[in-house]
Amino acid sequence: MMQLQIIESPEQMQQFALAARQRGERIALVPTMGYLHEGHASLMREGRRRADLLVVSIFVNPTQFGVGEDFEKYPRDMARDSALAAAAGVDVIFAPTAAAMYPHGYQTYVDAGPLTEPLCGASRPGHFRGVTTVVCKLFNIVQPDVALFGRKDYQQLAVIRQMAIDLNMPVEIAGMPIVREPDGLAMSSRNVYLSPAERGRALALKRALDAARTAFAAGERSVNALENLLKGVLSQEDGVEIDYAEIRDGMTLERSDFAVSGSLAAIAVRVGKTRLIDNCLLGAD
Ligand code: AMP
Repeated sequence: MMQLQIIESPEQMQQFALAARQRGERIALVPTMGYLHEGHASLMREGRRRADLLVVSIFVNPTQFGVGEDFEKYPRDMARDSALAAAAGVDVIFAPTAAAMYPHGYQTYVDAGPLTEPLCGASRPGHFRGVTTVVCKLFNIVQPDVALFGRKDYQQLAVIRQMAIDLNMPVEIAGMPIVREPDGLAMSSRNVYLSPAERGRALALKRALDAARTAFAAGERSVNALENLLKGVLSQEDGVEIDYAEIRDGMTLERSDFAVSGSLAAIAVRVGKTRLIDNCLLGAD
């Protein structure tokens, strides 16, 4: 077993990866913003299974945060993250600085298409441009054969899949199930922001998704009715402010009047100052 290494320099990471590839090793990459939890660990364990060299990137990417969002206060704890990564069998943590990723004079961005427009794209202008840009850079630096992403960020996964296809990136994009706390709250680094009272209110997300799923299973197909159900459950909880609660096509993310098996139910809310997202596929999951 290789000892966990922490590499900060993009050049050094790229040389390390190219040398591994020349030896015929398969590389798996799990991109993260750190403050790792069991959701991240599930991606790492799958990456471990699929590759010889497992790289986790930890980078709070400034270009995917909007003005007034939580870039500055996003939780960071490298000691804790290293311990969790080592336990999950990670070989290398790639943890570059923002200055190394976006040096003076940086000017190139990846713009994806219509998949970035609804849902989180509508409420976080520029967010997905930052995501696709940094993921493209990470792919070029780490040279992964496979990259693992959670379905927690469903739209992000769809956008990255499309980017990899459109730009002929030689990497397999693997989507992984949402890992939840025992009471149903989707794990997120942002959950640490929640006060105990807010943590209780946050359970409304899973409750709303379950209500939509149950209604779909009982035969409800009207998108309006299902969205009203989502919003109804969310607004029963004081202090949960809805950003969006929508039913969309599970592949194109387009709207239609009727839900089908595989339609996406997606929610974003603000609980206090914390923005939380969750989703499920109707007739599946
Ligand atoms: P983040 O550090 O929040 O940017 O997340 C890094 C990766 O972990 C993304 O692919 C996320 O979708 C994934 N992820 C975060 N939370 C979860 C979760 N609860 N279950 C599964 N994957 C997750």
